[in-house]
Amino acid sequence: MNFLSSQRLLNKMSKISELSLTKIVNGIKKKDFSSEEVTKSFIDSSKKSKKLNTYITECFDEALEISKNFDKKKDYKGLLSGVPIAVKDLFCTKNVKTTAGSKILHNFIPTYESTVTSNLWSQGAFLLGKLNCDEFAMGSSNETSFFGNVKNPYGEKLVPGGSSGGSASALAAGLTPATIGTDTGGSIRQPASFTGTVGLKPTYGRCSRWGIVAFASSLDQAGPMTNSVEDSALLLQAMSGYDSKDSTSVNKKIENYSSNLTEKIKGLKIGIPKEYRVDKMPTEIDDLWKKGIEYLKDAGAIIKNISLEHTMYALPAYYIVAPAEASSNLARYDGVKYGHRAVGKNLIEMYENTRSEGFGNEVKRRILIGTYVLSSGYYDAYYLKAQKVRQLIKNDFDKAFKDVDAILTPSTPSSAFKIGDKSDDPVSMYLNDIFTVPVNLSGLPAISVPAGYDKNNLPLGLQLIGKAFDEQTILNLSLAIEKRANFKKNYSVWWT
Ligand code: GLN
Repeated sequence: MNFLSSQRLLNKMSKISELSLTKIVNGIKKKDFSSEEVTKSFIDSSKKSKKLNTYITECFDEALEISKNFDKKKDYKGLLSGVPIAVKDLFCTKNVKTTAGSKILHNFIPTYESTVTSNLWSQGAFLLGKLNCDEFAMGSSNETSFFGNVKNPYGEKLVPGGSSGGSASALAAGLTPATIGTDTGGSIRQPASFTGTVGLKPTYGRCSRWGIVAFASSLDQAGPMTNSVEDSALLLQAMSGYDSKDSTSVNKKIENYSSNLTEKIKGLKIGIPKEYRVDKMPTEIDDLWKKGIEYLKDAGAIIKNISLEHTMYALPAYYIVAPAEASSNLARYDGVKYGHRAVGKNLIEMYENTRSEGFGNEVKRRILIGTYVLSSGYYDAYYLKAQKVRQLIKNDFDKAFKDVDAILTPSTPSSAFKIGDKSDDPVSMYLNDIFTVPVNLSGLPAISVPAGYDKNNLPLGLQLIGKAFDEQTILNLSLAIEKRANFKKNYSVWWT
């Protein structure tokens, strides 16, 4: 290849990594570029972006091989044919290291593939790499990862949010065309809001949990993280579906979110819950919320004030239920079956040393809280009470959804904060989840869509909460907001 043509190829490649997932899928189909060119482009931008610390495991050589084979076979049947995708390192990937951001799994190589990743591969996508995340998905800033904190493209000193922070940062920086994360209390929506990307948590049961490292099984749900609402619809369609291997998977037909996507939302009723106007909420967040209301009114929606009475109890209830389930789920990491094993004079000492060495502080804190609230004498006072509160929170939503089609709130109470700012104060860290956890406690779908900036030019997201299994309506409403907010990435690249 002579200098000019290699220069042309380089320009083309750098442009590819700036395209949306949908454009890449269509571009490959129309032969505007090959799968190999797409893959090279994302590998190239990923290699230049080590400072963001987004990857735990890179699968670049394997991805390139697959892309070359794809270009030979030219099988365009899938929704994601020929597209490389990096995923959160919480999804088990067959023969590829899966760490969950933890030392205890630093050498764990699954012999099986999670159902959602396998769904993506059946649609023609392939694995680009495994992305950094908070340890066992516990966190709101990506600072609890054993592999070091991830940085936000919007600033070297800023967190990308958590726990799917590696996914959000890689997506926003153009290192993967789209990605998938998991959301137990906000881990898709909060990092989406902090990085100016779109993050959707589907209805509990919509996407299989099989093969995802479990945090809190009654709350965990996988979902798409993308650069646009259109991409979100496409990726949700590719990853969702019934799975007999997950007993909580719901047997409903996969919907065609992409072709049903429309910004025609005239007449839809949108609830504005007064309880989400929390104390000391920055005026910028309130202003963004008002703007969102105006955007939806402009698109023909009807705005209604509603009340979700028990919202203030959601965070305390979540921080009992989630650690309780985590303490039980994490009991399996004992040095026998998975990952790291420490030495010990006897079996008990081996267990103790393995868990002391293998888990980080936040995970230990959750295990302690979890076992405490489940222990006899405290079970009724804490765990059972939290379960009752959970039901009340769900009842609030059921009541509200008799009058409205969706609910609009801010996604987060602030924009991205500084690395280290909240790491010594777990309660202030937990407060980040104030707008996101009620949704997980109720099993509902919700999406964060970038809608504006704060005074420091940092992205802010709006959240739309939908009725169970009505992802389509919140996607449509998000599209109406996206068109009007006209959000554009506005960071300057500091990491290459
Ligand atoms: N930040 C919340 C927590 O630490 C939510 C995490 C998540 O959704 N995985 O529990």
